[in-house]
Amino acid sequence: NPYPNLYMMVTVKDKSFKLFIDEQEIASRVAELGARISQDYEGKRPLFIPVLNGSFMFAADLLKNISVDCEVTFVKVASYEAMETKGQVEEILGLEKDLKDRHIVVVEDIVDTGITMTEILRNIRVFHPASVEIATMFLKPDALRRELSLKYVGKEIANKFVVGYGLDYDGYGRNLRSVYQLHESENS
Ligand code: 5GP
Ligand code: MG
Ligand code: MG
Repeated sequence: NPYPNLYMMVTVKDKSFKLFIDEQEIASRVAELGARISQDYEGKRPLFIPVLNGSFMFAADLLKNISVDCEVTFVKVASYEAMETKGQVEEILGLEKDLKDRHIVVVEDIVDTGITMTEILRNIRVFHPASVEIATMFLKPDALRRELSLKYVGKEIANKFVVGYGLDYDGYGRNLRSVYQLHESENS
């Protein structure tokens, strides 16, 4: 077996998942994204902002495919219930760099409804960057509920739950090198 880490089925915590996107396809899509971004940001010294935890693996691979001089700083999104009518509030933790007049690329694992990304962009724009674009490894177009300009998308996928390549199921499965989809019989 030339791919010793390529499993057809995996158990993550207490559910079974089947192979959905293998690491060779992921690698080629990440390389394409990296090449496009490198071309678009020639001479702009972009600042990449990957969103933890989910994007750690994609961010590492993407940055290895960036050939322009750049900076990287990680953030984390904390969600908490606000009082009464406000509902869920997202706060960005760890934003240490001065964003003013910078060319920002937010790096995410997956955009689902787009609510998280909308909040992240709102928090970043407060600092008046020169530009902000999104690079997401995966996008579920059928789940999208916000208007977002998604310039760099690795792959569009169906509206089904996936794990691996940084994405978790209840904290588990982030270490998997490929992406796995929840087995049909467990979709309920
Ligand atoms: P959104 O705010 O766009 O609905 O959700 C974004 C977040 O939901 C992602 O950053 C990710 O943490 C989580 N998410 C959405 N879809 C999936 C999925 O299929 N699998 C996993 N593991 N997480 C997902
Ligand atoms: Mg994420
Ligand atoms: Mg998660």
